[in-house]
Amino acid sequence: MTKSKLTLDDSIDKIKGIGPRYLKCFQKLSVETVRDLLYYFPFRYQDFSKVKNINELVEGETVSIIGVVKKIALRRTWRKKMFLIEAEAEDKTGSIRIIWYNQVFLTKIIKPGTTLALSGKVKKTGKKFYLSSPSFEIISQEKDEPIKNLSELKHTARLVPVYSETEGLSSKAIRSFISSVLYLRNKISEYLPDFLLEKYQLLPINEALEKIHFPNSLEEAERAKKRFVFESLLFSQLYLLKIKIKNNHLKFPKIKADFDLIKTFLKNLPFELTNAQKKALFQIINNLNQRPMNRLLEGDVGSGKTIVSIGASLLTYYSGYQVALMAPTEVLAKQHYKKFKEFLKPFKIRIALLTSSEGRIYDNGLEGKLSKKALEKIIASSLPIIVIGTHALIQKNIKFSKLGLVIVDEQHRFGVEQRKKLLSQNKNQEIPHLLSMSATPIPRTLALVFYGDMDLSIIDEMPEGRKPIMTKIVNKKEVNKVYQFVREEIQKGRQAFFICPRIEEKEAVNLEEIHATNLISLADKLKAEVKAVKKEYKKLQEEIFPDLKIGMLHGKMKSTEKDEIMKKFLNKEIDILVSTSVIEVGIDVENASIMVIEGADRFGLSQLHQFRGRVGRSIYQSYCFLIPDNFSYKTIERLKAMIKYNDGFRLAEIDLSLRGPGEFLGTKQSGIPDLIMRSLLDKKLIEEVREEAKNVLKEDPTLKKWPLFYLTFKDFVKKSKEA
Ligand code: ADP
Ligand code: MG
Repeated sequence: MTKSKLTLDDSIDKIKGIGPRYLKCFQKLSVETVRDLLYYFPFRYQDFSKVKNINELVEGETVSIIGVVKKIALRRTWRKKMFLIEAEAEDKTGSIRIIWYNQVFLTKIIKPGTTLALSGKVKKTGKKFYLSSPSFEIISQEKDEPIKNLSELKHTARLVPVYSETEGLSSKAIRSFISSVLYLRNKISEYLPDFLLEKYQLLPINEALEKIHFPNSLEEAERAKKRFVFESLLFSQLYLLKIKIKNNHLKFPKIKADFDLIKTFLKNLPFELTNAQKKALFQIINNLNQRPMNRLLEGDVGSGKTIVSIGASLLTYYSGYQVALMAPTEVLAKQHYKKFKEFLKPFKIRIALLTSSEGRIYDNGLEGKLSKKALEKIIASSLPIIVIGTHALIQKNIKFSKLGLVIVDEQHRFGVEQRKKLLSQNKNQEIPHLLSMSATPIPRTLALVFYGDMDLSIIDEMPEGRKPIMTKIVNKKEVNKVYQFVREEIQKGRQAFFICPRIEEKEAVNLEEIHATNLISLADKLKAEVKAVKKEYKKLQEEIFPDLKIGMLHGKMKSTEKDEIMKKFLNKEIDILVSTSVIEVGIDVENASIMVIEGADRFGLSQLHQFRGRVGRSIYQSYCFLIPDNFSYKTIERLKAMIKYNDGFRLAEIDLSLRGPGEFLGTKQSGIPDLIMRSLLDKKLIEEVREEAKNVLKEDPTLKKWPLFYLTFKDFVKKSKEA
């Protein structure tokens, strides 16, 4: 294959050196075409740019040297477990020993007389310096051959790009392939409009592609990165805003903004809404009346989102429409059903509960069981009704005919598809309003990136009179005191949660740094979690609290089993519930007053805060004990934020800045371009791009004014959908 024939849209196996094996590896990285490869960016750079003479070396320094190999030999280490490749290289100032491990093939390609560029950290035994497993690059095979220009080096003696690897495909190989097709960057025409390049001082595409892979300085790399971050964010904001605009043109159920009705509703509540709740409810009422709603209602655990959704349901119902509320578990669905009945008592209203195990109906004060068949019939008629349930709501025999509002609780537990199912049912083609509720407060900038197609209502205020939960960090050595305290509380009639340590999933690792990968699959993780929770359960039941009733909850249990355990806990048949992180979902166990979190250092602050929110839901003083495995200064400093703050948004911000977006969101957030992930901390940029995207759409909502930009955008959308 000659170079000139290669084009950007060719499959990468047309590149010299890429056969079926590498092709498969690249597929794992979603790199399929030459263009994809050019857009596969390094996640950092190894600085090998300092080139020194051998007699100038200093222990511990990362440097590059250029030397001629004097000798090279293969031997087995004394335990015969490993191969050792030992070489000696010299320049005009001296010589140095080099060792590599196990890379037997090196003796075939490096011979005495080969000129090498070598990069790595200088080590020392006795008085002698050596390089251990340095990166290397062959400059010439024979002593008298002309030496390759230093500026042509890709793996040594420069800033070397480091790529995310996959098994069987090293960063070095990726680098070589990219370098071999980099010339094709000139075939890519600039697709960003000039005014954007100018306004934001962005590098042109050809230069940016060169500099992001092979920069001469970190500043150059930064500038290149900035361009790509900008365009990724811009495309994604355009995409989300376009959805938002399109959404606004859908046919929607017009819900009367009946403020008299709302006043009666509020007057009959046993408490007054917080200002934040009022504001959210007001936003929702106006939205329901004026345009299709696609809204995210965010609020800390216990901030009172449910009551807001009840108000919205009431209005919808009185406008003659049906409401569907979907909760992730049966226990939660029942809890909502109870609350809806309680707070809507003053009104003539019909509410149903529908889970996989039962159907119930409440009609204007009367309540009873109802077969699923009968419920299906009511739902299919256009009778106004509020139906509360689990996934059972989206089974195919359930057909709403006049659905006005869909409420999804703990929205991150449901996939987009599941929500779509509920939203596409009406006979009259009206698209129901959507209210997604989430207790995982995410900072506003993240919300723009992930839910930029939605409107946002935030409840950032807690109802009055809640006793703050007392939070304490406990050294493992003092854990007996915690046990003693738990016992006393249980004797007073309370209950406790114990959360087991999280099982870490290793993230993709870089093979150049870590030789063996050990990726724990999700299945293995689940298994390990179950093991951990069983062990903890055994310990607590047999050694610590043999006289108490202990229950266990983990992710491998069927949802009916989980529900069974939760019911027992609610009915006080269980004193202590030991659980993995599945407990996170918002269940109200008012009698529980203690949350003990083992291995607390392995959770993010946001998640710890979620756990803590499981207690403190009643008049009882509640407690949260954080027991980290590792008691280092850094860990304790981080955990101290839990003592200092009780505000989920605040903790989320801190969590995000400490752990970075990847960890904060969990490694499973696929589909988000890597560059966007890394830019999520840049609030200013995100806000700026959001505004720019609005401007661009104002100027031309079709984007066709900028043909290349438009095509690239379409491509971006296609890729996002595939991911
Ligand atoms: P979450 O936002 O976690 O879903 P809930 O809606 O379940 O919170 O509310 C938690 C508890 O607080 C419920 O028992 C609810 O009745 C109560 N509550 C809600 N709003 C207020 C308020 N303004 N004042 C007092 N209690 C409230
Ligand atoms: Mg809730």
